[in-house]
Amino acid sequence: MAILQNTDLRILIVDDQDSVRLVLAEQLIKMGVREVVQARSAIEAIEMFAAHKPDIVLLDIQMPGHSGHWIAEQIRNMDGGHWTPIIFLTGLDSDEDLWEGIRVGGDDYLIKPVRSTVLAAKLRAMQRLLTMQRRLVSVTEELYEANKRLNSLIERDALTGLINRRGFDRILHEQILLARRHRLPLTLMICDIDFFKQYNDTLGHPEGDLCLQTVSKVLGSVCQRPTDTACRVGGEEFALVLPNTPRSGAMMFARALTEVLASRGIVHPASSVSGVVTVSGGITTCVPDEQTSNLGMVTRADEALYAAKAQGRNNFFSYELQLTAKEHLAQR
Ligand SMILES: [Mg+2]
Repeated sequence: MAILQNTDLRILIVDDQDSVRLVLAEQLIKMGVREVVQARSAIEAIEMFAAHKPDIVLLDIQMPGHSGHWIAEQIRNMDGGHWTPIIFLTGLDSDEDLWEGIRVGGDDYLIKPVRSTVLAAKLRAMQRLLTMQRRLVSVTEELYEANKRLNSLIERDALTGLINRRGFDRILHEQILLARRHRLPLTLMICDIDFFKQYNDTLGHPEGDLCLQTVSKVLGSVCQRPTDTACRVGGEEFALVLPNTPRSGAMMFARALTEVLASRGIVHPASSVSGVVTVSGGITTCVPDEQTSNLGMVTRADEALYAAKAQGRNNFFSYELQLTAKEHLAQR
């Protein structure tokens, strides 16, 4: 009797009566079920369930020791996010047991002695539900992946490909917590392009966009460690989040960035500090504690950025060292 749609099933039979298990197993094998495993007690049932991960469980209600209800509850807990159909095996005289069985997580019931056609019909119905459930799980997983991709797009700046303001806020917050836990220095740099308004006014906005893209590439290229993050947080304003970077390391980083950008030689006809595009930056470095916040770090980096501008631009200024990157180099 080829009743089942697909016999690639593993079925666990739990019953304390040997004869019931043997007859059921024989019926299932005749229907072409691939694998039948058997348990005669609650403890065995739990072990078999964990070891064999059956597709369907046929579960006797009346058993010495723990009842089938108890086993069903354990199986539901072990299932996690999955669902394994449970079909109870019961006598004719136990409606209350049956109700309790469905309440604790059973899906259907069979009355003993079990007739082959009824057994096959129930298995087929459960199989259909299983197929639907598996399809649902795979759609859910696809949705989860799509959501992840969408989230990463939401945090990208379209023009430059850098992390945008929204991503910056999240990443800085996460890095503050991480650095606090590991007691490591965290550096934040905020920089902007010197005389960018004049650049746009002189060369036009399309050129301005190209300039932003080139500067972004430079910022991205100097962020070499996987945890270093370059972000575009405003029109011509950028932020670099540099975990595990102490004050002097931040100064070296700033000088390297300045040199790489200068070597690109993007002509800036309206700059009063250089013939090429330059940036000014503010640096703050700390080992975060309970008081450290995004706002606090951004405020300190901003203040340092104003100091860098006040001291002639094309330079970085450290809030904690109260020095520019060039002064820091001269001191060494
Ligand atoms: Mg029994």
